[in-house]
Amino acid sequence: MLYRLLGETKMEVSRLCFGALTIGSLQANLPLAEGAGVIRSALESGVNFIDTAELYDTYKYIRQAIQGFERDVIIASKCYAYTYEGMRESVEKALKELGRDYIDIFMLHEQESILTIKGHWEAIEYLIKAKEQGTVRAIGISTHHVEGVLGAASIPEIDVIHPLINIAGIGIRGGTLEDMLKAIKTAAKAGKGLYAMKALGGGNLLERTEEAFDFILGIPEFASVAVGMRTQEEVAYNTRLFSGQRVPEQIKSAVRRLPRRLHLENWCTGCGKCILRCRSAALSLSGGRAVVDSQHCTLCGYCGSVCPNFCIKVI
Ligand code: SF4
Ligand code: SF4
Repeated sequence: MLYRLLGETKMEVSRLCFGALTIGSLQANLPLAEGAGVIRSALESGVNFIDTAELYDTYKYIRQAIQGFERDVIIASKCYAYTYEGMRESVEKALKELGRDYIDIFMLHEQESILTIKGHWEAIEYLIKAKEQGTVRAIGISTHHVEGVLGAASIPEIDVIHPLINIAGIGIRGGTLEDMLKAIKTAAKAGKGLYAMKALGGGNLLERTEEAFDFILGIPEFASVAVGMRTQEEVAYNTRLFSGQRVPEQIKSAVRRLPRRLHLENWCTGCGKCILRCRSAALSLSGGRAVVDSQHCTLCGYCGSVCPNFCIKVI
C-alpha cells in the first residue's frame, strides 16, 4: 500500500480509504462479524484510513474491526449537526461507539457552500474546542458541490475536504468536472488535506473501474480515495489496484460475479429524469418516487448519470 500526507494534518493515510457506507444498514446491511471482517482484511492489506458517518450506522463494525489491531488506524466521520450541543453529542456518540478517546477527523456532512458552512458555525466552534482538548485531531467537510470545496478552502479552521469527483462527473453539483478540479487545486494550495469520494460514481462506473481509478489516482491533490467495499474480493481487488500491482484474473472475475442491484435513495424527488434515460424501461414512478424493476434492469448505470440528487447507485 502507498501512503500520503493528508494536507497539513500530519496524518499519513493510505491511498485507499475504506468507505464504510456500503457494509451498513443503508446498503448491504452485513452481519456484524462479516462487515468487521471485511474492514479487518483491508487493514491487514495495508489500509489505515476508514471513512464513515453518523448516518451510516457503522461504528460497531469499525470498533470490532480495529479491536486488537496493532497498527494505527485513522478514522474520519461526519454528521449533520449545526449547533454546538448537537455536534458535542455526535462526537461523543462516535467516541463511545468506536471505543476510542479521540477521533482523527470529524466533518460537517454534505456542505453546499460557504453559506451552509457559516450556518453550521456553532458546530464548528465545538469541533475547534474538541481539537484543543485532543478529542478531535482535524476538522473537515464533505461535499458534492464545487462551491462547498471553495467555501471550505477559504476557512482557516477547516483542515480536510472530502469532495465528490469521478471521471464522468456523476453527482458533481454546481459546476462541471473541470470546475471541481479547479476548486480542488485551490483547496490544496490553501493547505487543505483532500480525499475523494464516489470515484466509481456510486457504482455507475463499475464497467470502467480501472480507468476511473487511474483518473482519480492521477489527481495529485488527493492523498486518498474512499471506496466502498462489502466483500473480501473487492478488498483484494482494490488493495492491489491502489498498490500499483497487477490484479490476478481470478480476483477480477470474482468481483465481476458479485451480485449487484440498483439502489434508489429515499430522498428521490420523483423528477422522472432517470425514467427518460433508461433504455430498458426498468424504472417507473410509484408513490412520487422512482422504483426499479430488477427483471429489466441491466445495471448499466446510465440512469445514475442524470439524477440531479445522486439517488441512484449500483451496489
Ligand atoms: S441501470 Fe440501466 S437498465 Fe437499470 S434502471 Fe438504470 S438505466 Fe435502466
Ligand atoms: S432522477 Fe433521481 S430524483 Fe429524479 S426520479 Fe430519478 S432517482 Fe428520483
